Amino acid sequence: FDQAYILGCRLDLVDMEQSLSVIKRFVEERTPHQVVTANAEMVYAASRQKPLRDIINRAHLVTLDGAGVVWAARFLGHRARERVTGIDLTLALAELASKLRWRLYLLGAKPGVAEEAAARMVARFPGLEIVGTHHGYFQQQETAEVVREIKEAKPDLLLVALGAPYQEFWINRHLAELGVPVALGIGGSLDVLSG
Ligand code: UDP
Repeated sequence: FDQAYILGCRLDLVDMEQSLSVIKRFVEERTPHQVVTANAEMVYAASRQKPLRDIINRAHLVTLDGAGVVWAARFLGHRARERVTGIDLTLALAELASKLRWRLYLLGAKPGVAEEAAARMVARFPGLEIVGTHHGYFQQQETAEVVREIKEAKPDLLLVALGAPYQEFWINRHLAELGVPVALGIGGSLDVLSG
């Protein structure tokens, strides 16, 4: 697929179907991959913040999450077909996971929210295996424990809802140790899915 550079960030011009097939390959490869859904706010922040830009440019897949970035890509002459948002990707991946028996772990949002989101996702996609949840308001010194819990749950897919761009930094920092095949930042999606 084609790529666009917007304010120094590499964006992958994938539609939902292509995103799912690329992520499926990541899961099958078993090595850790970071997936970012980038909206205009994140791209703008990255243009002013090299550490964030580096994370986006090294991520294994960066989708266009929003009308602003799709517009910008088209303005630059690319054929950006559709946006691939965190919430849409989360739902599509949950459905795929229920069919392919991938293990999901949900990290983030206020206490109770990830559990509620998990219950609703399982009701919607029967057979979906959610192997763990953890809220996103742990202290710095609790991080090692959270990482250990996720590792022990052995998810194929880790959805991280700590808010952008903090979740991108968090995934980047812990991805190798976590050893999960795919970690994806999903912003406020668990709040949406829980209620
Ligand atoms: N959040 C969290 N821990 C924090 C700060 C935020 O788990 O320390 C969660 C928050 O509860 C919400 C999500 O991160 O579920 C951020 O959602 P928001 O819509 O503000 O972020 P965006 O979609 O812009 O990334």
